Amino acid sequence: PKTLRLILGDQLNSNHSWFKDKNDDTLYLMMEIRQETDYVRHHIQKIVAFFLAMRNFADFLKQEGHKVLYITLDDLANQQDLVKNLKRIIIEENIELFEYQFPDEYRLDKQLSDFCIESGIQSWAYDTEHFLTKREYLANFFNGKKSYLMESFYREMRKKFNILMDGEAPLTGRWNYDQENRNKLKDPLLLLPAPTYAKDVSQLIHMIQSEGIKTIGKIEPTHFEWPVSREESLKLLEHFCQYLLPHFGKYQDAMYTGDPFLFHSRMSFSLNTKMISPLEIVQKVEKYWLEHQDRINIAQVEGFIRQVIGWREYMRGIYWAKMPEYAQLNYLTHKRKLPDFFWTGRTKMNCMKHAIGQSLEKAYAHHIQRLMVTGNFALLAGIDPDQVDQWYLGVYIDAIEWVEITNTRGMSQFADGGIVGTKPYVCSANYIDKMSDYCSSCQYDKQKKVGDNACPFNTLYWHFYHRNQDKLAKNPRIGMMYRTWEKMNGRKEILDQAEVYLANLEDL
Ligand code: FAD
Ligand code: SF4
Repeated sequence: PKTLRLILGDQLNSNHSWFKDKNDDTLYLMMEIRQETDYVRHHIQKIVAFFLAMRNFADFLKQEGHKVLYITLDDLANQQDLVKNLKRIIIEENIELFEYQFPDEYRLDKQLSDFCIESGIQSWAYDTEHFLTKREYLANFFNGKKSYLMESFYREMRKKFNILMDGEAPLTGRWNYDQENRNKLKDPLLLLPAPTYAKDVSQLIHMIQSEGIKTIGKIEPTHFEWPVSREESLKLLEHFCQYLLPHFGKYQDAMYTGDPFLFHSRMSFSLNTKMISPLEIVQKVEKYWLEHQDRINIAQVEGFIRQVIGWREYMRGIYWAKMPEYAQLNYLTHKRKLPDFFWTGRTKMNCMKHAIGQSLEKAYAHHIQRLMVTGNFALLAGIDPDQVDQWYLGVYIDAIEWVEITNTRGMSQFADGGIVGTKPYVCSANYIDKMSDYCSSCQYDKQKKVGDNACPFNTLYWHFYHRNQDKLAKNPRIGMMYRTWEKMNGRKEILDQAEVYLANLEDL
C-alpha cells in the first residue's frame, strides 16, 4: 500500500529499522510547524537547532534514496498544525497506510492516536528504537513498590546491558562513586574550549523572525555552536572522551563563572533528538575508559554512565508511569509568580545572575546550576510549578517535556511529593559557596541570615522548612533539619527577613 511515515523533530534516528529498506511506495514526512514552535516560548537557539537537525536528517534520507516530503515553516501550503498537514498530504498523495513512531510526549502521543481513530485510516505505530527500555518498563519493574528508587533501576540497566559489569558483579567491585564526585574547581587551567561548529544560521533566524515566532534568549547568527547532525554529535562525543571524561565525575557538581560547560558532555540535544543513542554513548565511553585506564579513573566514567542509562532512562519511565496527572502536581501548593529576572538575568544574586544569564546566552546550564541554583531558588521562594516548568521547557536546548517535567516538577520542585526524589533538593549559601566561585563576588553576604545584605538563600531556606513543617517533618531524611531549626537562635528575625524578601522578590 502507498504508505506515509511521519518523522517528528525529535525522532532523528538514522539507525532505525525503517530506513534499512527503500521503497518507492513509502513517503517520509517531516514538518516545521507553529504548533511546535509556539506551545511554549522557546529559546531561539532551540528552534534553530531543531530545524537544522531536521533539515540535515531529511537530506540524509534523500541521499540514502528515500522519498521525503519536508514542509518548511514558510511553505505557503503549510497549515502549521500536525493533523491538518497530515490530512492534506494523505489526500494529495493518495495514502492508504499511515505509520508513525511512538512520540515521547504525552501531548503528541494523544494527538496522533486520536487522529488515527478519527480519520479511520489504516495505521501502525512503531518503537523509536532509541531507549534501553519500553515506556512501561519502569512501572512494571517497581510494580507494588511504594517508592521508585533510581539506584535499583540503574543497577538493573547495568546488568541487562552488561555495562561496567563482571558477570553479575560491578566491574570494579562498587556500583556507585557519587561520594567521590563532589569537588570544587580549583584549577581552571584544566578547562579546554569545547569544539564549536561556527555555522552561519542567519537565514534560518530570518525565517523564524519574519514568521513572527516569539522566542527568548540570544544567538550568534554566524557562530552557531550546537551539533545538528549525527557526524557532529559523534565528533562531540569523541571530544568528550578525550578531554572531558578524565575530569567529568570529579567536577560534575562544580560551578564556575568563567565557563558554562566545564567537563559536561553537551550531548543532551543530540541524545534527545535521537541523533545518537544512549547505549552507543555508554558503550563508547566504557571502551574508551578500558583503553585509557592509566589516565581515567572509574569514578569519572561511572558518574557519566549513571546519568545516561540511570537518570535519563528512569525519568522517561516515571513520565509514562505518571502522566497526565503528573503535569498538575503541586504537593507544596506553591503559587508565587516567577520573578521577571528569570527572563533577563538582572538580579543582585550573583549565582542566579550567572546561571540565568548563561541559560539565556547559551540555551544551556549544567545539572547543578539547574537544580541547586535556579531550581533551588524557585522552590525556596514557593514559585508556582507551572511557571517554573514553562521557563525550563522554553530556555534549554534539550528541553522536551518527558525529561524536563520530571526533572523540574519532580526532582527540583518536589511538586510530586517525593516520587522522583525522596526529599527536596534545597540548600543555603553554604553549599553554593562550597561548589562555586559565585559568592566571593556577590553583593549579598553568604554568612548572614539576617540584616543588610543577608544572602536570600539563607533566610528563604529556613522559611521553606518552617512553612512546610506538616508536610516534611515526618520524612526521616529531613527530621534532623527540624531539630537544628528548633534549637536555632533568632528564628523570628530569620522568618521576618524571609517575609520581606518574599514580598519583594523582584528586587532581589
Ligand atoms: P552531562 O552532565 O554531560 O550528562 C550526560 C547526559 O546524561 C546528559 O546529556 C543527559 O542526557 C543525561 N542526564 C544527566 N542528568 C540527567 C537527568 N537528571 N535527567 C535526565 N537525563 C540526565 N535534561 C534534559 O535533557 N532536558 C531537560 O529539559 C532537562 N531539564 C532539567 C531541569 C531541571 C530543573 C534539572 C535539575 C535538570 C534537567 N535536565 C534536563 C537534566 C540535566 O540537567 C541535563 O540533561 C544536562 O544538564 C544536560 O547537559 P549535558 O549533556 O552536558 O549533561
Ligand atoms: Fe548566591 Fe547568596 Fe552566594 Fe550571593 S551569597 S552568590 S546570592 S548563594
